[in-house]
Amino acid sequence: MWHERYAWHDARGLMDSAPPEALFEPEPSLESGVTKRRFRNLVDASGLLARLVAIDPRPAGDDVLAWIHDPAYIADVRARSAADGGDAGNWTPFGRGTYDVAALAAGGCIAAADAVVDGRVRNAYALVRPPGHHAGPEGGSGYCVFSNVALTALHLRRERGLERVAIVDWDVHHGNGTQAAFWTDPTVLAISLHQDGLFPVGSGRREETGAGEGEGATINVPLPAGSGRAAYLDAFDRVVRPALDRFAPEFVLVASGLDASMCDPLGRMNLTSECFGVLTDRLLDAAGELCDGRLVLCHEGGYSSGYVPYCGLAIVERLAGVATGVADPWLDDDRTVAALPLRVDESAAVDAAARIASRSWPRSSSR
Ligand SMILES: [Zn+2]
Repeated sequence: MWHERYAWHDARGLMDSAPPEALFEPEPSLESGVTKRRFRNLVDASGLLARLVAIDPRPAGDDVLAWIHDPAYIADVRARSAADGGDAGNWTPFGRGTYDVAALAAGGCIAAADAVVDGRVRNAYALVRPPGHHAGPEGGSGYCVFSNVALTALHLRRERGLERVAIVDWDVHHGNGTQAAFWTDPTVLAISLHQDGLFPVGSGRREETGAGEGEGATINVPLPAGSGRAAYLDAFDRVVRPALDRFAPEFVLVASGLDASMCDPLGRMNLTSECFGVLTDRLLDAAGELCDGRLVLCHEGGYSSGYVPYCGLAIVERLAGVATGVADPWLDDDRTVAALPLRVDESAAVDAAARIASRSWPRSSSR
């Protein structure tokens, strides 16, 4: 699922977030349409695109956006978007026309989920922009305008009659907006794997587990900077998969930021394209055993225009069950730090998250 207009959202320049008096040479935002278009175009050049089923997005209506966002915020984005743009909040400047693209991003994720529920495709990758997992009721944050993944989970619950939806967020930043949307909701399991203390600062501690009826349905796995293949697989096998098994979701959504890659300018993690491929295999196994393979990945962050395409291709290859044979030019077994074994601090972080996650289940509302 891709639409050319996703590349047209204007995230403005880095200068837009700097004070006017700052001595700062103007530079484009790191949140760039180029990165996503290069991902799409590598899937095309590899020959894989011709073997996929294209899903057409449709814009999410204001009634759907209002499941998460205040009507005043939605109206404000639309009005500024029709003029010269503005700022949706905390590091989220945008230009003219963004409202339409952001509504198409949320609607694209929903269309991808519908295509899976309706059996038109087995699974899907929704390559959308702008991203969504930091956005909240009153505003955007961290390049995110509307809460794409959370809205898709609510669509599956409210419009498609599903009882339990799981969200796995592997973006390098904490999925705080998604977490907030389901803080007291036991029907949506929200799991976030992220670099400890990165963004939003102080958010995504493992002690954040939800509240009320939703206690235990939020799981945070903060990992130390520098974590690579071994840490992510350990976290998946000892926290994510057991939690999915206990929750027994009817659908798995992934907030698929590719900014935990070893080349990302906004993260300090060490995943390679091969790691994203293996993590995708883990997800396919879980979804296959728990919910007839119903799985949709929704794109979030990822700021290396040179590396996001290879990580993305590896994921889509696994989803499609097709190996293109395209070599990742950055993947070098002799030099990659991703081949390092599990570090003591990584293992300790997973231990601590696993202890907390396993204490909160099972609950009466889970199976
Ligand atoms: Zn991110």
